Amino acid sequence: MTDTPYIAIDGISKSFGSMRVVRDADIKVGRGEFVSFLGPSGCGKTTILRMIAGFETPSSGSISIDGRDVTYLKPSQRNIGMVFQSYALFPNLTVAGNIGFGLKVAGANRAEIDSRVTEMLALIKLPQLAERFPWQLSGGQQQRVALARALAPRPSVLLLDEPLSALDAKIRVSLREEIRAIQQELGITTIFVTHDQEEALSMSDRVMVMYEGRIEQIGTPYEIYNHPRTAFVAGFVGTLSQLDATVVDASRGEASVGSASISGMSLPENAKPGDTLRLALRPESLRLEHRDGDQTLRARIVAVDFLGAVIRIKLEVGEARLSVDTFNDPTRPPPSAGQTIDLHFAPQTVLALAS
Ligand code: ATP
Repeated sequence: MTDTPYIAIDGISKSFGSMRVVRDADIKVGRGEFVSFLGPSGCGKTTILRMIAGFETPSSGSISIDGRDVTYLKPSQRNIGMVFQSYALFPNLTVAGNIGFGLKVAGANRAEIDSRVTEMLALIKLPQLAERFPWQLSGGQQQRVALARALAPRPSVLLLDEPLSALDAKIRVSLREEIRAIQQELGITTIFVTHDQEEALSMSDRVMVMYEGRIEQIGTPYEIYNHPRTAFVAGFVGTLSQLDATVVDASRGEASVGSASISGMSLPENAKPGDTLRLALRPESLRLEHRDGDQTLRARIVAVDFLGAVIRIKLEVGEARLSVDTFNDPTRPPPSAGQTIDLHFAPQTVLALAS
């Protein structure tokens, strides 16, 4: 992010009655940045988006866009484009009518509107559908029109509230790429609300993870996935296998798991012998082959899920359950359930979380 934030959210909180749904959130978004708000249902992400749009007023704190305090401005005074999960197109207007609507309301002349609508139809790659009505479009097409409608008046910020959630899986993935490409082409500062971690990781410059009204972590997809700062982020983003462990020697990054011992891990700063820990491992960090520097755990195979290119092997280490992803090798059959094997991993890939 650049030094001067384009959107600056400072210490905002929001309560509905006695329920505090957003707690003291600070968020800075750079000009042209794509930031996702990610979290489970009810964590407060939509409420923050609605406060940026002006549909809700913060109980405390402030919001500024490009240096202008917008905290108490009406939505229409903020120059924001918004896209909703439900498309919310005007059913009685054609595609062209929908896209041109904001410009018409703003008093643009016919020629200006026509030229902008043509430009927007090309941007969303639907030039042939100008005269259709919303009910004559697929869900994916309706959402692209909703995006064009939001972008037509040249907003300074684009807000997307779960825009892909109502679509089926294939369209969702292709529209993801399309939205990101359009966002980059226009360089528009964008906030995208989702509870789908894959969407957030694949589309964003940075991801803000929220839980119960609080920001847990803000970082690049790489940081969030590989260096989660809280147990919630570690568990919510990606798949993780977890093992209970006890610190043996903090200076050597050593902890015991049942009768086995693992060393060379990054333990929490203040860890001391006897402390209990949660060790978390991503399926792709675990291997069946040994490499230099690896640590090893003995495990029993419980199940083998053949997923095609990837084989997910489920194992037991003592009481704990682990998953390992290996690539399918057509020249070698996968191991089978019931076998006992050695599981290898680089100790630096273990996330050691205080338990
Ligand atoms: P979802 O993905 O389900 O929309 P979310 O993370 O976006 O979840 P919010 O919509 O921000 O969550 O809602 C946060 C909490 O605030 C929820 O418990 C919700 O019920 C509550 N809430 C939201 N709007 C209002 C309102 N206008 N009045 C009362 N409570 C509200």
